Amino acid sequence: MIELRGLTKRYGDKTAVDNLTFTVRPGMVTGFLGPNGAGKSTTMRMMLGLDSPTSGDVHIDGKRYDQLRDPLNHIGALLEAKAVHGGRSAYNHLLCMAQANNIPKKRINSVLDLVGLSDVAKKRPKGFSLGMGQRLGIAAALLGNPKILMFDEPVNGLDPEGIHWIRNLMKHLASEGRTVFVSSHLMSEMALTAEHLVVIGRGKLLADTSMADFIAKN
Ligand code: ADP
Ligand code: ADP
Repeated sequence: MIELRGLTKRYGDKTAVDNLTFTVRPGMVTGFLGPNGAGKSTTMRMMLGLDSPTSGDVHIDGKRYDQLRDPLNHIGALLEAKAVHGGRSAYNHLLCMAQANNIPKKRINSVLDLVGLSDVAKKRPKGFSLGMGQRLGIAAALLGNPKILMFDEPVNGLDPEGIHWIRNLMKHLASEGRTVFVSSHLMSEMALTAEHLVVIGRGKLLADTSMADFIAKN
C-alpha cells in the first residue's frame, strides 16, 4: 500500500504537485491519469524517493522510502524512457542490480523468463528495440519480487502487441495481490487497464474513484 499525504512539490513559484492525498491499494491496478505536464512523473519520483517533496510525505507499507530496508524488495518501478546504457549484457545489467541489493542470483533467470528475454540475455541492451528495452526495465523492476510496482507511461511508443503484453502483465501482477500504480495521459488506455483511477490536473487531485464510477459519471 502507498499513502500520499499532502504531497507538494514547487519549482520556484510553479507548483508542479499540489497537496495530493490519496492511497494506492493492493490487489488491483490503479491508474494515474492526467495530461502531459500534470505532475505525474514528479509525483512518482517522490513516491520512489528520487525527489524530495516541498511538503507532505509518502508512506510505503507504513514507512518512508529512505526508511525501507532493501527497498527493491518492497517497490519496483519502470520510469519513463529510462533506457539502459553501458556495455553490459542484459544478464549482467540485472546481475549488478541483484548484487547491489542483496537479491539472490537465481531471480535473474526467473525475471528474464517472465519478460521473454531469456534468448537475448547475453546481448547488449544497446541493440534492443524499444519494446525489448521496456521488457528489460520491467525485469529490473521485478527483480526484488516487490509487492508494489509503479509504471510511468509504460506503453508510450509501443506497438499493439507490446501494449497488450504490458497491460496483461500489470493485471497479472495485481491478481497476485500486488499493488500496481500506472500513469498515462490516455483515458482509453486507463479504461482497459485500471480498476481504480486517480486523476490529476495542474498538480491537483481531480478524482479518486473506481473506474466503473468514473466512467458512469463522465
Ligand atoms: P507529467 O509527468 O504529468 O507529464 P511532470 O511531473 O513531468 O508532468 O511535470 C509537471 C510540471 O512540473 C510541468 O510543468 C513541468 O514542466 C514541471 N517540472 C517538472 N520537473 C521540473 C524541474 N526539474 N524543474 C522545473 N520544473 C519542472
Ligand atoms: P517458482 O515456480 O519456483 O516459484 P517462479 O519463477 O514462478 O518460480 O517464481 C520465483 C519467484 O518469483 C517467487 O517468489 C514468485 O513469487 C515470484 N514471482 C512469480 N511471478 C511473478 C511475477 N509475475 N512478478 C514478480 N515475481 C513473480
